[in-house]
Formats: sequence, structure tokens, C-alpha cells
Amino acid sequence: MTAQIIDGKALAEELRQGFKGRVEALTAKGHKPGLVVILVGADPASEVYVRNKVNGCLAIGMHSEKITYDATVDQATVLDKIAELNANPAIHGILVQLPLPKHFDEEAVLEAIAADKDVDGFHAENVGALAQGNPRFIPCTPYGVMKMFEKGNVDLSGKEAVVIGRSNIVGKPMALLLINAGATVTVCNSRTKDLLGHTRRADILVAAVGKPKFVTADMVKPGAVVIDVGINRLPDGKLCGDVDYAGCLEVAGQITPVPGGVGPMTITMLLANTIEAAERKAAAN
Ligand code: NAP
Repeated sequence: MTAQIIDGKALAEELRQGFKGRVEALTAKGHKPGLVVILVGADPASEVYVRNKVNGCLAIGMHSEKITYDATVDQATVLDKIAELNANPAIHGILVQLPLPKHFDEEAVLEAIAADKDVDGFHAENVGALAQGNPRFIPCTPYGVMKMFEKGNVDLSGKEAVVIGRSNIVGKPMALLLINAGATVTVCNSRTKDLLGHTRRADILVAAVGKPKFVTADMVKPGAVVIDVGINRLPDGKLCGDVDYAGCLEVAGQITPVPGGVGPMTITMLLANTIEAAERKAAAN
């Protein structure tokens, strides 16, 4: 059996085209969606991510700007800027690119962002709302995965779902979304005993590990939906997921590729969250 491929690149493009009308309607009402991305330091990977986020906004008619600081900037300066943006009615989304330099208290910075502008969904208030099954902003990567399930007509209710990885950015919010959707969820980590025993019974398997080709064909239940969140750079410069794609393609029922799978969905859902924030603001006025 060869798995059906869930094409994240095509789905991302389809969704972004669909966003344009919503952005136009908001702009016409004086609520052009606006996103500010704050970048501290000059990490090359972060610079690429930030550029893609800003360009993604501009391409569909949104307002977006990048604010950059030298890596030596003090936390108080960044907090002052966040406070200013919190009060700016033209800005609907504020995002601080992670990771921050070591002298920063990451949690304090994320908590300083107004919860109703926290388009990354990392603020404790938004994490709590998600845990209660009443999300305001869903973290972008797992939000993108949920859209891929929708596109692949994957019914999650009553399914065995296994998430490998428990990070705040991917694993944990992914597990919460699957719980909310009625799946029976197991979250594995580096200390999990008998990982194979867990993955082999998964109808839905999400890999968010950060290790190239970690999930091999023998770990996958025949017909399972395999979602590869991993983005790993190989020594030859090529991108590789956490799943051994060629091997698992022959066992899975549906699978996401890397590149062209979850990656393009993440920024797309950041755009979605910013538009949703602007729509909520417009509705409240
Ligand atoms: P992370 O914070 O490093 O978390 C990795 C998780 O994998 C941890 O919970 C870790 O367990 C677990 N793990 C490590 N080795 C394991 C093992 N042998 N068995 C079982 N679990 C194991 O990484 P992350 O931020 O969640 O990112 C995961 C991957 O997704 C990375 O490749 C990252 O680049 C990628 N990513 C992609 C996107 C996208 O847009 N597609 C977005 C974000 C991240 P412990 O907690 O016990 O250490």
C-alpha cells in the first residue's frame, strides 16, 4: 500500500488565497490586520522565519513590520516596546521570535504580550483556554496540523492518537487539540518506555522530536495517518523530517512530506490567527 500524501504546500496556498477576501473586508472597515514580529539577535534561521512571516502577511494585503534588536539589548527595552504595541489599535498580533538570548526571561516576555494579541498562542491565558476546550489562539504548528486532518477527511473521534514530543510549542498543544477532538491521546517523550508499543497501535501518529528519520516503518500501524512536524537540516544541507518518509510511505494510510508538509502550514495559521484577532476587534467596535 502506498499512502495518500497530505500536501501542506497546496493547502497553505489554498487557505492564503481564501484569506485575501477577509483581509479586504477588514481593511474596508478600517481594521486592516496588522502583525508585528520582534526579533532579538541575528540568528540566521530566525531571520529567515521572520522574513517569511512578514512577507506572508504583505502578500495577502495585511500590514506587517519587523522590529529588530541587537542580541545585547536589555529585557526592559523589549518589554517597553511590547507595552507600546499592546496599546496600538492598528496592531492585532504581536510575536516575539524564539529563542531569545540567554539573559532574557522568555516566559516573562511572552506573558507581557496582551493575551488578545498573542497570535502564537503561548500566553498562559491562551494555553489555559485551549486546555479548557475553548481556544482563542491555537499555536500555529498544531493548528496547521488540525487543518491538514480536515483536508484529509481524517475523523479523529475515538481514534488512538500518539504524539512523540511534549514541547510547549508543538507536542503539548497538539495533544490538547486531539483530546478536544475526541481522540484517545498518548504523549511520548525521551523517557518513554516501549515507544514502539505505543506508536504501533496509533491510528494517528504525530512526530515532533527533532531527530531525522526517527520514525521508521516498523513503528507505524498499517493504514495510520502519519504527521511529520520535524524540520532537520542534514549535513548535505537538505531538509529532512522526523519520519523516514520513503519507508513509512509504504505502510501509512496518509502521510505528510518534508518539505511541503506541516512547514508551510505554520506561517499560514499565523496569518489566520492575526486575521481572527482583527475580526474579533472589528466585531467588538
Ligand atoms: P523540542 O522542544 O526539542 O522537543 C522535542 C521533544 O521530543 C521533547 O519532548 C523530547 O522529550 C522528545 N524526544 C526526544 N528524543 C526522544 C526519543 N528518543 N523518544 C521520544 N521522544 C523524544 O522540539 P520542538 O520545538 O517540539 O520541535 C520538534 C521538531 O519540530 C523539530 O524538528 C523542530 O524543528 C520542528 N518544528 C517544526 C515546525 C514547523 O513549522 N513545521 C514548528 C516547530 C517545530 P523530552 O521532553 O523528554 O526531552
